[in-house]
Amino acid sequence: MSRLGDEIRQLIALEGPISVERYMALALGHPRHGYYRTRDPLGARGDFITAPEISQMFGELLGLWAAQCWLDLGKPERLRLVECGPGRGTLLVDALRAARSVPDFREALSLELIEISPVLKAAQLRSLSNCGVPVAWRNHLGEIEAGLPLIVIGNEFLDALPLCQYVRQNGAWHERLVGVVDEALVFGLAREAEASLYQQAPEGAVLEVAFQARTFIRDLAQRLKTDGGVALFVDYGHAKSGFGETLQAVHNHRFVDPLSEPGEADLTAHVDFAALLGVAREAGIDTYGPVEQGPFLKSLGLEERADQLIRAAPSEAQQKDIRSAERRLCDMARTGMGQMFKAVGFAGPGQPIPAPFDDPRQTG
Ligand code: SAH
Repeated sequence: MSRLGDEIRQLIALEGPISVERYMALALGHPRHGYYRTRDPLGARGDFITAPEISQMFGELLGLWAAQCWLDLGKPERLRLVECGPGRGTLLVDALRAARSVPDFREALSLELIEISPVLKAAQLRSLSNCGVPVAWRNHLGEIEAGLPLIVIGNEFLDALPLCQYVRQNGAWHERLVGVVDEALVFGLAREAEASLYQQAPEGAVLEVAFQARTFIRDLAQRLKTDGGVALFVDYGHAKSGFGETLQAVHNHRFVDPLSEPGEADLTAHVDFAALLGVAREAGIDTYGPVEQGPFLKSLGLEERADQLIRAAPSEAQQKDIRSAERRLCDMARTGMGQMFKAVGFAGPGQPIPAPFDDPRQTG
């Protein structure tokens, strides 16, 4: 068992079983041994790879998307470009390079990075040290000063926020908890039923509720209402809410038992887009999508950008790499990124519809 596993067992010995949400928060964010506190998880030698790490095209297209939003917002003289969970900073480096074609947009920008990982903060600092735009780090949205319009982006951020699970038993919902049996961490159920959950479901069904993601979206909505602006999140998940367990652990690009090595494996869950869009609408902002990543990136010009890069590539091997990255980002097979990942947009009241959601085929 990992060092964090030992700490969690001690905690459970003292306080009793803990919620899946608390377990996930500790596994990812424990100040000393949490997964995101101790390592850079990205890339071939890490545990997983993300779209901006697959190809520069992803960040470039999002950079041009942001520049277009700035134009649509009426070219505000100053605005904050906020990235939630920026990983190595790769997306922003590519975005800012692409945005050189809109110099007034770059001039207007300051970057605000929401990040909990000191290791990734250091990587972001290295990537962005010469970017020519002021950069500040924040722990959460609330730390960003009010008063300027925002363009907020996040790729694979929402899936990392801890969630609660409930299991239907004897006609009632019971929260799933993590306890200890024979020195090992195991899942169990709270004895008392949850009175506040009223969804009907078959016996044994699992319900996931991402309270932290909902709170984040509510806070985001508040900011977009008071300061104006738009937001775009890309993540893997389902367009419709449903029952089922999606919590998963990945280590060295393989699925592992989420309880076996806390702090050593990445823990994520599918994003329930319908639930988050509902929260945003209730909070009074406009929502767009979800649109599958494949068509979304194509609408932003992925094919044209790939062709352009291929024409400029000095070797056949590089040309092949560009084409294969393009295919991977748009792969519409059942488990392909182009289909599993989806984009959702948010806009403050009265703000223009962010492209490409203004295309009626893309409003979802
Ligand atoms: N967007 C990057 C990285 C995705 S991994 C990419 O696409 O490559 C998830 C990112 O979210 C990491 O940077 C991680 O440190 C950050 N993160 C996870 N939980 C967070 C939280 N609660 N608050 C802020 N950042 C968080």
